[in-house]
Amino acid sequence: MRLIPRLQAAFPRLLLEKDFSFSRHTAIGCGGSAEAAASPSSYIEAARLLAFLERGRIPYCLLGAGANVLPSDGRFEGVVVRFSRLGQLRIADERILAGAGVTGGRLLAAAQKAGVGGLSPFSGIPMTVGGGTAMNAGVRDLHFSDVVQAVLCAEKGKIGFLRGEACRFREKSSLFSEEKVAVLAVLLRGRRARSEDIARESCYYRSLRARLPKGRSMGCTFVNPAGVSAGALIEACGLKGARAGGAVVSDRHANFILSENGRAADVAALIELIRTIVQKKTGILLREEIRRIP
Ligand SMILES: Cc1cc2nc3c(=O)[nH]c(=O)nc-3n(C[C@H](O)[C@H](O)[C@H](O)COP(=O)(O)OP(=O)(O)OC[C@H]3O[C@@H](n4cnc5c(N)ncnc54)[C@H](O)[C@@H]3O)c2cc1C
Repeated sequence: MRLIPRLQAAFPRLLLEKDFSFSRHTAIGCGGSAEAAASPSSYIEAARLLAFLERGRIPYCLLGAGANVLPSDGRFEGVVVRFSRLGQLRIADERILAGAGVTGGRLLAAAQKAGVGGLSPFSGIPMTVGGGTAMNAGVRDLHFSDVVQAVLCAEKGKIGFLRGEACRFREKSSLFSEEKVAVLAVLLRGRRARSEDIARESCYYRSLRARLPKGRSMGCTFVNPAGVSAGALIEACGLKGARAGGAVVSDRHANFILSENGRAADVAALIELIRTIVQKKTGILLREEIRRIP
């Protein structure tokens, strides 16, 4: 039985999409299609769906805003689980409970309106709360690990709370990006601030981002090795402007790869080229920050 009818039979109210296009739903604009995408509308439905996929050994992947992923060009004979309908947002004092599907822009606008500061460094990072938590997104001044108090998550059909310390946050990774544990909602702690001050701070952080390369990318491709900037290493190896087919190393920021033709294979070939040359010239093996979708 094909996937969509199987899912429809098991979850009559689940929102399903056939032939989901990765290129239309990722920042890099690459990738082929998936047989189905499913968007659960409650935490319980999400947990049940994940348990169903695991029990049936149905391949699946979790997708947020698609800002940090490289899907492959072929067909994914599986299900993309999306979180856009988990969009609850509650603010009390300096605490924010946000569903995994809340976008960074919505989170920051609501926090500003409610006078909750301390999150402005996230301004302008393309993300959902689920993806931001999974990737421990952030900038030098602030990462998710600094503000996450607890995560409501689902693993093997069970829903539970994990305290921030248990989330195994590291540089651009966490328990959620390393293992198949889905973030359903996150409790964040900011601090009381005046809306005008938050607006000014957000504006400052957004202005810093004006220097980032324009075009389709995944943001930074590699994690910074201890004490060095990956971009500086790549630049020092003379790789700004290097290309593989329609994928090119940005000449503004060498850790950004831009895709001009939407071919994931070109991006993957360029990643390999960069890694090989940087290792040969510096002895440092770069670790990918981006996540691949099979
Ligand atoms: C132009 C540009 C600028 C960027 N700048 C920054 C920056 O300054 N700082 C920074 O940290 N990042 C940056 N990024 C990368 C990206 O914005 C972050 O990694 C962000 O956290 C990705 O969130 P997402 O919702 O798009 O996740 P996706 O890209 O959709 O997914 C990323 C990973 O998280 C997993 N995931 C998604 N949702 C869930 C969930 N609910 N539960 C469990 N796992 C989940 C996915 O399976 C995948 O492994 C940039 C990207 C772009 C394109």
